[in-house]
Amino acid sequence: MGVALVENFNCKGTMKKRSGKNQSSSRSNKATTRRNQSEDESDQGGMNNALHELFLEELADIHNAEQQLTKALPKMAKAAESEELRQAFEEHLEQTEEQISRLDQVFESLGEKMKRKTCKAMQGLIEEGNEVMQEHKGNPAIDAALIAAAQRVEHYEMAGYGCARTYAHMLGLTEQSALLQRTLDEEGDTDHKLTDLAETVVNIDALK
Ligand code: FE
Ligand code: FE
Ligand code: FE
Repeated sequence: MGVALVENFNCKGTMKKRSGKNQSSSRSNKATTRRNQSEDESDQGGMNNALHELFLEELADIHNAEQQLTKALPKMAKAAESEELRQAFEEHLEQTEEQISRLDQVFESLGEKMKRKTCKAMQGLIEEGNEVMQEHKGNPAIDAALIAAAQRVEHYEMAGYGCARTYAHMLGLTEQSALLQRTLDEEGDTDHKLTDLAETVVNIDALK
């Protein structure tokens, strides 16, 4: 389900253009949301309630993942040999802090309290990253290995933000959807930047 939802939407921008019907379909989505919300008052198992719950869980998961990253990124920056890669990790740390504020903003705007959640996938990705850092310490391939670990993280985040953004859109939460799209774009840009670094500086050094 997640993959299908992500694929139905562009990474940049909000939705793929499907003729001129977007506007009216988004209006009718909102109308459906309102209708279902009133139906849900008498039907707690209603579909929109379930999607709203899933949306909140997804946001709590991403929030925790981002928090774990604020601790991991300084270590990755320290381990990087290339100055450009170190800078890229430091810049992404700043971005990550803004992304956390953006998620707080989404919860606040919904009047919802965030549930405590531990993102086990991010724990695993960070653990793998730590292993890689130890295994390749002092080795010319260290930066390539760091990039591989970081790109796994960015792709995990893109999947989470892509789904959350799509749920927001389906729930008629336009403002929240736009905030999530902004972060999704940043994660995508970071991923591309890492690919550029791998192709230009890093992997060439590892071949010497
Ligand atoms: Fe992030
Ligand atoms: Fe997770
Ligand atoms: Fe990221």
